[in-house]
Amino acid sequence: MESVASNSPSSNNHQPPLRFRPIQPIADRIVRALRHHLRLLHRSDQSKFFVLGATGNVYIVTLSTTSSCTCPDRTSPCKHILFVFIRVLGVSLDDACLRRKTLRPCQLNRLLGAPILPEALAGVRVRERFHQLFFQFRQGSSQPVVEIEDGTTCPICLDEMEKCENVVTCGTCQNPIHEECLLKWKRSRGRRSVTCVICRARWRDGADQEKYLNLAAYANQDDPPTAEGNEGCGG
Ligand SMILES: [Zn+2]
Ligand SMILES: [Zn+2]
Ligand SMILES: [Zn+2]
Repeated sequence: MESVASNSPSSNNHQPPLRFRPIQPIADRIVRALRHHLRLLHRSDQSKFFVLGATGNVYIVTLSTTSSCTCPDRTSPCKHILFVFIRVLGVSLDDACLRRKTLRPCQLNRLLGAPILPEALAGVRVRERFHQLFFQFRQGSSQPVVEIEDGTTCPICLDEMEKCENVVTCGTCQNPIHEECLLKWKRSRGRRSVTCVICRARWRDGADQEKYLNLAAYANQDDPPTAEGNEGCGG
């Protein structure tokens, strides 16, 4: 047996040198905007951008002279706004717009007139899913209408579900589950987070007024694996 297996970190120094360390928070956010798995789902009214975040949450970036984002990050511009600037609209990294909290109307107009870079778009299926779910999400009334097709069985007790039964749906995959069965499942999870028994996304009740639409279950569906070794070479 050779002894190479021992963990000697000194022989494994293949990490690329960090050229620039983000000192200022803004630089740090720019790096995150560039590196994190963010995708554009939809653009509406010219100035609204629906961004699929790394965790599958959908955030809405609204460009204006004081751009805003629905994410919890209070700092402006957050990485989603920067993502829209840089990766969606192709603003160059040395553009002054990136470092301003407010934009002049002429700068804003220039940004809004820019076309979307196709590389920033999420895959077709994720976008389709977004359109379906977002519509329901927005309609999310206090009285969820759970439509159950004949012969649909509860994934937990495997009984057929009746229209009159108390049924809840997974906010992510929309599959119906008996409310009773879900409660039992929740109890059985104890302190662990409750996940959907079908799609395994963190449980969000379709009826809950969740703040964010979450597409985690679809986010990676049709992102083709990046061509090996072909990434990160761009200067
Ligand atoms: Zn944000
Ligand atoms: Zn059941
Ligand atoms: Zn689900």
